Amino acid sequence: AKARGKNTFHFFSQDLNEAANERLQIENQLREAIREQQFLLYYQPKIDIRTEKIIGYETLLRWLRPDNTMVPPLRFIPVAESTGLIVQIGEWIIWEACRFLTRQHARGHMITVSINLSARQFTDQDLPALVERIVKRTGASPAHLIFEITESMLMGDIDAAIVQLNELKRLGLALSIDDFGTGYSSLSYLKRFPVDELKIDRSFVKDIPEDKNDMDITAAIIAMAQKMDLRVVAEGVETIEQVEFLKNNACYLVQGYYYSMPLAEQELARLNFETI
Ligand code: C2E
Ligand code: CA
Ligand code: CA
Ligand code: CA
Repeated sequence: AKARGKNTFHFFSQDLNEAANERLQIENQLREAIREQQFLLYYQPKIDIRTEKIIGYETLLRWLRPDNTMVPPLRFIPVAESTGLIVQIGEWIIWEACRFLTRQHARGHMITVSINLSARQFTDQDLPALVERIVKRTGASPAHLIFEITESMLMGDIDAAIVQLNELKRLGLALSIDDFGTGYSSLSYLKRFPVDELKIDRSFVKDIPEDKNDMDITAAIIAMAQKMDLRVVAEGVETIEQVEFLKNNACYLVQGYYYSMPLAEQELARLNFETI
């Protein structure tokens, strides 16, 4: 038993070492990526299924390594978050997304742009002033900007979160709760958050129409959003059955591979959907 305990510890610490090494490696590579500007934004259309028009885009971060490999955000954003590097990267994301918004509007496409905020960005006291500066400098319309925040980011210090949400709303932009239903936010708090939109997490959408339970949950979230006067968006929509289900339940805003994957800006022109 003793020997096995020792072995277990050995393997365990080896795993920990490997994990720590990988993190350190990613951290160093991230610093280089910032210097060498290896980040880019992809854009996923948000579609109104009543008209099949593009009403907005969600910006999604991509890291293109010099060897042309694309690192998925979930591999490096947690490291960027824990090292604080996300603050610099996140600032660049806001600049880039606002420039994109301005370019689209200049071409007459009055779309919205949704930006994902990390926890560290959201709790940063300087965020509202930063956003105000970027909006002014880029000429982006704040009324067409949406910041996406997850439930868990709101449930830490709830009063501080409400202050920050109000500061951001004062700039005229909209706020969205991302991955709704996966966190542990209490519905009684939801009413206190000055948000405009709920995004139903893909985990509830992906097994429609096979999973009756998921259909009930999705329908309940849509009904609740309507009661609370919140816009509701379904994410991860991949099939026509899912589109039909959402339409029948009066959820008209969707994102997902059924319509389009996230694309580079120069690829958007090839989409077969009209833009508002
Ligand atoms: P998210 O904000 O929930 O973004 C949705 C993710 O689902 C994206 O993955 C998107 O490519 C993917 N997706 C969209 N439609 C479908 C579909 O129909 N089927 C499937 N299977 N997937 C779909 P991605 O781009 O890999 O991003 C993953 C997560 O990384 C995001 O989840 C978000 O939490 C984070 N992230 C991405 N970009 C940023 C960013 O700029 N800033 C921050 N802070 N986080 C970001
Ligand atoms: Ca999102
Ligand atoms: Ca999401
Ligand atoms: Ca997610």
